[in-house]
Amino acid sequence: MGEPPVVTRFAPSPNGSLHLGHAYSAIIAHDLAKARSGHFLLRIEDIDGTRSRPELADEFRRDLEWLGLEWQDVPAQSTRLESYQAAANRLIEMGMLYPCTCTRKEIEALKPRRGPEGLVYPGTCKGRLLWPDRPAALRLDVEKAMQKLGELVWEDEIAGAVVADPRELGDVVLVRKDEPASYNLAATLDDAADGITLVTRGADLFSATHVHRLLQGLLDLPVPRWHHHGLLMDESGKKLAKSRNSPSLADRRVSGENGRVLAEQIRQKRFPAGISLHSA
Ligand code: GLU
Repeated sequence: MGEPPVVTRFAPSPNGSLHLGHAYSAIIAHDLAKARSGHFLLRIEDIDGTRSRPELADEFRRDLEWLGLEWQDVPAQSTRLESYQAAANRLIEMGMLYPCTCTRKEIEALKPRRGPEGLVYPGTCKGRLLWPDRPAALRLDVEKAMQKLGELVWEDEIAGAVVADPRELGDVVLVRKDEPASYNLAATLDDAADGITLVTRGADLFSATHVHRLLQGLLDLPVPRWHHHGLLMDESGKKLAKSRNSPSLADRRVSGENGRVLAEQIRQKRFPAGISLHSA
């Protein structure tokens, strides 16, 4: 028997229109799968109840079609809440989660160290004996999880073998006060459920992978490979973002631009003026 087929995915959050950085990411994931006779999936990550705009999911599909990509849809995150809850319960039973009622302001006031994704939670609520009677987020006890699992390694197609260092991010929130899961928990579970063998995404999520690898160990999930690609930056060296002023893919499409031509230029790393690729 040969190798199982490569399965990649593009997993946008519908909280703003897609831009060139997303096109770059989707094209890489699509082409890596196609080059290896694999599958390319689209998963809409829509569990952020306050920011998600459901109508954008169709816009994203029109954008991908316009770029000439072919994909298979898998269920959006909002339809998978039970699986997140079940995994969170399992982690609670294992003693790996603890409730945290700290507000952002309270955490800032403690002046904790800064990690790759902002302030690192200093563990104030860890060791609390009673379950709080007000809404709480659930945080992963990273130290305890690492003691249980020992050294973990993950493979990135660009960076090579990486020793997981989830302490970098500290005790991340896995279940939010107001939502059934955080990105880290939901994406890790979904990648396993969707049979993703090669997680392809921007290098800005590289450090989150340390946590994902830890969760895979705790929840006995299959361990894929990763491909963290470089990021498109604007003139000021900032990551292209939906909020900054590069026209969205939808704007380009509606204005009559040829999406397949744009996709070819992106493949050849020829980007519009002012936009450059910063390698991973
Ligand atoms: N939903 C995330 C985003 O739009 C991407 C997550 C991922 O690729 O793992 O930034």
